[in-house]
Formats: sequence, C-alpha cells, structure tokens
Amino acid sequence: MLPLPRFDVVLPRTLAEALDTLAARGPGARLLAGGTDLVPNLKHGLLDVDTLVLLKPLRALDAVVAGAEGGMRLGALATLSRLAADPTVRRTYPALALALGQIAGPQLRNMGTLGGNLCLDTRCTYYNQTEHWRQALGYCLKRTGTVCHVVPGGTRCVAAVSSDAESKEWVASGGIPIVNGSDSLLTGSKDEDWLKFQYGVASNAKVFAQSWDQAMSPTAAEVLLDNISKLFQLSVTPQQFATNLNQVIGK
Ligand SMILES: Cc1cc2nc3c(=O)[nH]c(=O)nc-3n(C[C@H](O)[C@H](O)[C@H](O)COP(=O)(O)OP(=O)(O)OC[C@H]3O[C@@H](n4cnc5c(N)ncnc54)[C@H](O)[C@@H]3O)c2cc1C
Ligand code: SF4
Repeated sequence: MLPLPRFDVVLPRTLAEALDTLAARGPGARLLAGGTDLVPNLKHGLLDVDTLVLLKPLRALDAVVAGAEGGMRLGALATLSRLAADPTVRRTYPALALALGQIAGPQLRNMGTLGGNLCLDTRCTYYNQTEHWRQALGYCLKRTGTVCHVVPGGTRCVAAVSSDAESKEWVASGGIPIVNGSDSLLTGSKDEDWLKFQYGVASNAKVFAQSWDQAMSPTAAEVLLDNISKLFQLSVTPQQFATNLNQVIGK
C-alpha cells in the first residue's frame, strides 16, 4: 500500500477564500478537484505539498453555460463525463466532447474535471511511477535526478502535455480534420484498410505529437507528422509514406 504524506485540508466557502489560502500558504498549497491525478502523484512522492485546497465545495465552478453569441463557458470543475455527454458541448465542440468521452475509464471520467485535465502533470513513463521505482532507476531531471531517460545526455525535461482535453482542442482548432463517420466514407475505397488505419493515426496525430517524448525525438516526430499531412494532401503515395515512416523509425 502506498501511504499519502501528511497535509492540511482546507474546505473554502468561496472562491476568494480558496485563492487567499493559496496565496497565504505558498508553493506547498495545491488545489484538489477530482483528485484522480493529484492523489496518486502524492502517493508516488512526486510533489511537496503541505496543504490541499478542495475545490468541490465551490459549486459555481462547475457551471456549463452557452454564450449569447455562440461559444460556451465551461466551468473548471465540470466533470469529464458530464461535458462529454452535454448536448450543447457535443454540438458546439464535437471534437472536445469526443476526446473527453475517451479519456481513461468511466469512473475516472466521473471524478476527473476539465480543470484537472488541463492542469494534468505529465505522464512520462519514467516519472509517473512510485518513489521506489524511480529510485531504482536513479530518478530523472524532473525531480531529484540528474538525467533524462527519454533524451540521454539531455539537460532539460522534455515531457509534454498529457491532457487529451488540450490536445484534441488543437485538433478541433484546425489541425487534423475530424470526419464524422469516416469508417463508412472509406468503406469500399481502394486501399480501404490502409486508409482507415492512416485516418486513425492522423486523427490522433496531435495527441501522438504530445506523447512523442515516450517514443521518439522531437525531430523524428515532426518528420512523421509532416509525412501524415502529405499523405492527406495526396502528395505522397501510401507506399512512399511507409518508406518515409520506416526511415523515421530507423528500419
Ligand atoms: C488510469 C488513468 C488513465 C488516464 N488516461 C487519460 C487519458 O487517456 N487522457 C487524458 O487526458 N488523461 C488521462 N488520465 C488523466 C485524467 O484525465 C486526469 O487524472 C483527470 O483529468 C484530472 O482531473 P481531476 O479533476 O481528477 O484533477 P486533480 O487530480 O484534482 O488535479 C490535477 C492537477 O490539476 C490541478 N487543478 C485541478 N483543478 C484545477 C483548477 N480548477 N485550477 C487550477 N489547477 C487545478 C491540481 O492542483 C493538480 O495539479 C488518466 C488518469 C488515470 C489515473
Ligand atoms: S522527459 Fe526526462 S526528465 Fe522529463 S519526466 Fe521524462 S524522464 Fe524525467
């Protein structure tokens, strides 16, 4: 069993009280929303926290409101499952609703909030581990250690954002197009299986770019993304794409 460290818990009655507590307690104070990221991270010894300010009592923060002139205001405390199911969010920000509905599993989406997801700590494989695990590896640059296991010889942490809410918003804002019913559109086309596979890769490309720290160097990831975009501009054939991809991964 992994024990939690000792800390004070503050239940603010107003947002002002929460902010005052944060200011008064300094860097050792943290906001707690759903706790699905923060609590395991505390158990893993990833943070030096002496005060947790619970946001759940501040019900006003979970408001989800349609704007008078389009757009929406999404409360930081709104849960991922609620936003994913909200008809107005689904209509106004379909890619965001889709992304939120795919995060983790139902229990985590019921507890996890939009604010917590956007402020998610990195889930770098070499960091998002227990104290014992990290100690055995000699820790890493992000906490306690002197090396980065993703970029050996690197002098800075290259861990990227792990939040799907954030990365899928980029997709929604003009990156890779999300096509409703892409499977049926591609059914019967020449190279159907290939295109469906590539569409899957492409629609996750921005997420993939956010996770490249665990898979490949930034340069290689840029080459890969460039290749994917060329494929969809039809400026490379699937075969050329595969050749380029193999070069990137060194095959
Ligand atoms: C098994 C597992 C699988 C997961 N899979 C995915 C996945 O596929 N995609 C993905 O995107 N995420 C994934 N996650 C992460 C999950 O989405 C987050 O744990 C969740 O969104 C965090 O929300 P929370 O409300 O629980 O945040 P908390 O754990 O309460 O807080 C997380 C961080 O945000 C800060 N914070 C919270 N609310 C606010 C606020 N209003 N203002 C400022 N700071 C705030 C906290 O201080 C803390 O630093 C996974 C997590 C687990 C445990
Ligand atoms: S990218 Fe490197 S320094 Fe950053 S968390 Fe991962 S292993 Fe640690």
